[in-house]
Amino acid sequence: MKPANEELLGELIAHVGRADIVADVHAVYAEAAEAIAAGRSVCDLSGRCCRFAEFGHCLYVTSPELICFLTDIQSAPSPSPIRRALAALPDADPGELCPFQVGRLCGARAIRPLGCRMFYCRPDDDAQMKSQFETFQGRMKQICRARELPYGYFEWTGALAVMVRAGVITPNPVDA
Ligand code: SF4
Repeated sequence: MKPANEELLGELIAHVGRADIVADVHAVYAEAAEAIAAGRSVCDLSGRCCRFAEFGHCLYVTSPELICFLTDIQSAPSPSPIRRALAALPDADPGELCPFQVGRLCGARAIRPLGCRMFYCRPDDDAQMKSQFETFQGRMKQICRARELPYGYFEWTGALAVMVRAGVITPNPVDA
């Protein structure tokens, strides 16, 4: 796994909180939800795919998804568990497992990135989603061009750890 591109991530910090990017990404997520609903892919809720090292894969996110996630955290109705998970990230092994997994479930489900929404561990289901995933990923590139946002494709846990270290996310006062 390549180390997080800290220089490029640093350029993204100024864009956290941009409502135009968040609205664009939410629109892509809504379209993706329709595509997923129209398909027949089945999730067994095993939770294995969120334990990256054990499963043998990595989760990558684009710049707009990262901006959207970091912005959504600020307005999530119950941000404390997500922020607590993020606070522990700088000490964790990058790419080992997702800090938001709670049991076998996702503790950040409403704001999870595209890869989480469209990955299925059954090979047939994943193949069905793959081409659609590429389409929606292309939409993230379009958002970058339209909104003058640098495009990057980052390993999830490493990128979030950089953002935490940079102070983009601070612990919720009620957790301190
Ligand atoms: S954000 Fe949620 S679905 Fe995505 S890897 Fe983490 S726990 Fe799994």
